[in-house]
Amino acid sequence: MSVIYDRVALIGLGLIAGSMAHAMRDGGLAREIVGYARSAETRDIAREIGLCDEVFDSAAEAVKGADLVVLAVPVGAMGDVAAEIAPHLKPGATVTDVGSVKQSVIDAVAPHLPEGVHFIPGHPLAGTEHSGPRSGFAGLFRNRWWLLTPLPDSDEAAVQRLTGLIVAIGAKSDRMDPAHHDLVLAVTSHAPHLIAYTMVGVADHLRRVTDEEVIQYSAAGFRDFTRIAASDPTMWRDVFLHNKEATLDILGRFTEELFMLQRAIRMGDGQQLFDYFTRTRAIRRGII
Ligand code: NAD
Repeated sequence: MSVIYDRVALIGLGLIAGSMAHAMRDGGLAREIVGYARSAETRDIAREIGLCDEVFDSAAEAVKGADLVVLAVPVGAMGDVAAEIAPHLKPGATVTDVGSVKQSVIDAVAPHLPEGVHFIPGHPLAGTEHSGPRSGFAGLFRNRWWLLTPLPDSDEAAVQRLTGLIVAIGAKSDRMDPAHHDLVLAVTSHAPHLIAYTMVGVADHLRRVTDEEVIQYSAAGFRDFTRIAASDPTMWRDVFLHNKEATLDILGRFTEELFMLQRAIRMGDGQQLFDYFTRTRAIRRGII
């Protein structure tokens, strides 16, 4: 593989930035990888495990001279970080983000960035329930989609170069309208996380079943279904606050379907349950 960017600055050193650092290093895709982390503990860990060539305690310092800047902080922090780094960006640099919501990040970031800097919002559809600088690994993005939501005036050459990096680290790249992205992800990621959190909450609130019993006798259904409820609370708080309309739309539909199934169970309508599960099984089996 060959170098795609000379200097990459990773802002926020958690699961996603850490995985990018490993993947770029393994592939020799950047001559230099630098990072910024807010907490001294994260900076110490990043230095200890050699995540970056240099770790800064200031985002403004970290982006100086960078050809690619990756904003990898929670969605609600993107705007403040963009405001802080904006005066220090190299002319011609590309700024991308990895936020799970796109329209609100564009609204928060784009107004801060100076002319001549290319902003290309993005979202890798890859993650785990783990967070922090130790959780990253090079293979996280392999064969996963990485959606870009370029702005109407995004520079095509800059988009192509970023796409080259995404493909080189093993992901599949596609482009999408930001609002449509937010609706698609509300169905495929955001609502399922909320429902998983709720299922654990329901188990926690049961008086006649203890938390210890839930943990000890967790059957495959509960275990598989609620794995994602171990995800980072800050990240997910921000996702729901910033993808409000689409999430509420999907949750409204979810509630309607749940009531329909609840009624079928109450009425003993086995045919309705069977038909519903047959239809949904066919769809689920199409997902690898
Ligand atoms: P993470 O918790 O592992 O890392 C986030 C980093 O941002 C941490 O180092 C944290 O200290 C730092 N941070 C938090 N608030 C900050 C602030 N106000 N200012 C500066 N730094 C701050 O999270 P992650 O999973 O790497 O997520 C990063 C971004 O990637 C988020 O926007 C998230 O929506 C997105 N994303 C996450 C996943 C996933 O499954 N985890 C998948 C795709 C995209």
